[in-house]
Amino acid sequence: MPKYARVMVDDSGGNAFDYELAGEAAVRLQVGSRVRVPMRTRTVLGTVIGLSDETEASGVKPVTSIVSADPILSPLLIRLGEWMADYYCCSLEHALRSILPQVIRKAEVTHKLRQFARMAREVAPEELEALKGRAPLQVSVVRCLQEAEGPVAVADLAARCGASHQVVQALVKKGWVLCETARVERDPLQNESFVPSQRLELNPEQATIFERVLQALEEFKESGERTDAQLEKNEGASAEAAQKKSRPLLLYGVTGSGKTEIYLQAIQHVLERGQSAIMLVPEIALTPQTVERFKSRFASTGHEVAVLHSHLSEGERHDEWHRIRDGRARIVIGARSAVFAPCQRLGLIVVDEEHENSYKQEESPRYHARDIAVLRARLENCTVLLGSATPSMESFQNADTGKYELLRMMGRVDDRKLPLIRVVDMRLEAAKKSSILSEKLIGAIRQRIEKREQTILFLNRRGFATSLICSACGHVCQCQNCSVSLTFHRSQNRILCHICGYAAVAPTKCPECRDPSIRHSGTGTERVEDVVLKLFPKAVVKRMDADAMTRRDAYRETLNAFRTGKIDILVGTQMIAKGLHFPNVTLVGIINADMGLHLPDFRAGERTFQLLTQVAGRAGRGDVEGEVFVQSFTPFHPAIQYARHHDFDGFWEEEIEHRRQFDYPPFTHMVILGLRSQHQARAEFSAVTLARRLKELLPPGTTLNDPAPAPLEKSHGFYRFQLLLRSRQILRLSRALRSVLDKLTFPEDVLVTVDVDPYQLL
Ligand code: ADP
Ligand code: ZN
Repeated sequence: MPKYARVMVDDSGGNAFDYELAGEAAVRLQVGSRVRVPMRTRTVLGTVIGLSDETEASGVKPVTSIVSADPILSPLLIRLGEWMADYYCCSLEHALRSILPQVIRKAEVTHKLRQFARMAREVAPEELEALKGRAPLQVSVVRCLQEAEGPVAVADLAARCGASHQVVQALVKKGWVLCETARVERDPLQNESFVPSQRLELNPEQATIFERVLQALEEFKESGERTDAQLEKNEGASAEAAQKKSRPLLLYGVTGSGKTEIYLQAIQHVLERGQSAIMLVPEIALTPQTVERFKSRFASTGHEVAVLHSHLSEGERHDEWHRIRDGRARIVIGARSAVFAPCQRLGLIVVDEEHENSYKQEESPRYHARDIAVLRARLENCTVLLGSATPSMESFQNADTGKYELLRMMGRVDDRKLPLIRVVDMRLEAAKKSSILSEKLIGAIRQRIEKREQTILFLNRRGFATSLICSACGHVCQCQNCSVSLTFHRSQNRILCHICGYAAVAPTKCPECRDPSIRHSGTGTERVEDVVLKLFPKAVVKRMDADAMTRRDAYRETLNAFRTGKIDILVGTQMIAKGLHFPNVTLVGIINADMGLHLPDFRAGERTFQLLTQVAGRAGRGDVEGEVFVQSFTPFHPAIQYARHHDFDGFWEEEIEHRRQFDYPPFTHMVILGLRSQHQARAEFSAVTLARRLKELLPPGTTLNDPAPAPLEKSHGFYRFQLLLRSRQILRLSRALRSVLDKLTFPEDVLVTVDVDPYQLL
C-alpha cells in the first residue's frame, strides 16, 4: 500500500505537495482521485497525481478527506499534462486545467433533475367513468400513464394531454399517482432531428486510401485494450514499439474529394471493434454540417455521439464528459479541447482541417490540438489521421521527412471538376471606377441570378468601412485603448474597435478640426451587401458575419435558407469559408484577396493560399462546374497564382524554400515572449532586461531577436513588447526559459506570456 500521495492543489499555480496516506485513504486513493488536504491554515481541494512509498519532504501532513476516489484523470492524461507543461513552458496546473473541464474539477456537481409520474395503484374503469364529467384532464393523464407502463416526465404529460402540474398533483392527492424526482442527462443536440444515412460506396481513389487507413488501424488493434497500469509500466517499451508501427497519417485531399466519408468509415470500423474515436473539427459552430453528417450516420447504428465545444452550458458539459468517460458515447466530435476527452480504449483520433489556426489555444497553456492529438495517439498507442485540402507547412514537412505518412486524394467525388479560378487585376478596375466589385464579377453574378444558381461573396472583414478619415486634416478615428483604427458600422451608426470592443457614436464632423468632410475608407461586409443590393435590387441577399449572427440560431437558420434556395447571394466573412457544402453554389467572389497578404507574419502567404483554396472550394460542389473570381491588387503574388492553378505542390516547394532560407518554422521552433503593461516604459524596460538576461543563459543554437514593440503596439490599454526566439531544439529552449523566468521578478504591473510555436505574431 502506498504511504504518500502527491497532490496538485487547485489554485496554487500548479504546485504539488506530498501528503500522508492513512486508513481508508491508503486503500482507496488512486492517481486521479480528488481529495481535500491541509494547506497552511485552510483545507483545499486537489487531485492526486502520484502515489509512492517515500517522500523527500519533511513535516508531511495527512490527507484530510476523500472527495471522490473514482479517478477523474487517467495516468495517461496526467502524463500528457506533464508533457504540455514542459513543452509549452506553463505550470502543470494550467495544463491540467485544459485537460479537465472546470465543471468536473468542482466538488459540487449539479445534476439536471426532473419530475416523473407513474401509477401508484390499479385504477378501475368505474372509478375513471365517475371522474369523466368533472375532471376530464385527470382521466387523460391516467390513461396516458396506464399506456406508458413506466414513469413519464410530468413536463411531457403537459405536451401529450395538456395537463398541468396541478392536474397531476390532484391525482397524487387521491393516491392514484406517484411523483418522483430523477436525474436526467442533458443532451446538447436534443432539439435536433437527424435523418439516418447509410455509408456510401467508396470510389476507387477513396477505396485505396481507406485500405491503407484500415491497415494502420489493424496495427493498433490490441492496443486499446491495454490497461493504464500496463501503459504506465511499459512506457519506454511501448513508445519504442509504437515507433515501429504506423506513423501519423496525413490525408491531403482536394476540397470535395470525400475525406469526410473516409473519416466516417474509419470511425465506424473502430466502433465495431469496441473502441472509441475522437473527431476534431476547427470550430464547431462553423461546421454544423459535419456534426449533422456524423449524427445522421451513427444514429442508424445505435452509437451515441457526444459533442464538446465552448457553447455548451456547464451542465451539458458535465453530462457529456461523463457519457464519454463511462463509455456510453464512444464518438466525440468537438473543437480543440475535445482532444482531451476522457475516452476509454481510444482507437482513432481524426483532426479535420488540420491546418486551421483555431486548433491553437491563445491563452496559457498555448497548446496546438493537432500536436497534442499526435502525442496522445502515441501515448494511447492508437491511430491518428490528419486531413486537409491545404496541409500546414509543418505537417507537410513532417510527411516529407517521413515522420508522417502522406495519403493523397487528387480527384473530386464523381469526377467533378475543381472550380475555374479567374484572377481579376483590381489595378485596372480602379481606373474604371467600378471600385468594390469588378465588372467581370458583376457580370458573373447577373448570370447566376438569371440561371437561379447561387453566389457566395467573401470578405474577411465585418462592418461598413474599415476607417473614418477627415478629408480636411487627415485625422483617422483611432481606438483609445488599441493601436488600430475604428471600424464604421453603418447599421448601428457606430464606430467599433475590433480588438477591445470599444464603441462610440459615429461622428458627423471631424473630432479634430470640426470639418464635416469625414469620409469612409476601406470596405467591410456591410458595404459589400449594400453595393450588391443596389446592383441587384430583386435578388435576396443575406449577410453572414459576427454582427448579423448574434442570435444563437441565426447561423443555422441562414444556412438552412441558403440550402433551400431562399437566398441568392450570401455575403460573409470566414464564417462561410469553411466546410460548407451547397451543390447549387456555382460562383464564388473573393472581394479582396490581398487583405492578409501584407501582414508582418511569416505565415501570411501560407494563410492566403489556404484561405483562397478553401473559399474557392465552396464553388462547383454540385453538377454544374464552379467559377471563382479572385479580386486582387497583387495578382501575380505566388500565393494567388498557385491557388489559381490548384497547385499545392508548387506553392509548397516555393514556400518551404523561403522558410529554409530564413530559418523559419517548420525548420525551427519559434517562441514569443510577450511583455505588456499600461506603462509603456515599464514594459519596454522589462523586455530589455529579460533579453539581456536571456543572452547569458540561453542554450547554444538559440536565436534571439532584439526586443521590439509588437506589431499591434497597444491593445486593451496595454503597451506590448516582444522577444522572438528560435531554436531547433524546442524542449531544451522551453526548459531554459522556464528556469530563467522562474528566477526573474518583474514589476507587478508587467505581464509576461510565453507562446511556444506561436500562430499569433501580431
Ligand atoms: P471533403 O471532406 O473532401 O471536402 P466530402 O466528404 O464533403 O469532401 O465529400 C463531398 C461530397 O461528396 C459530399 O456530399 C459527400 O456526401 C459526397 N461523397 C463523398 N464520397 C462519396 C462516394 N463515395 N460516393 C458518392 N458521394 C460521395
Ligand atoms: Zn480597442
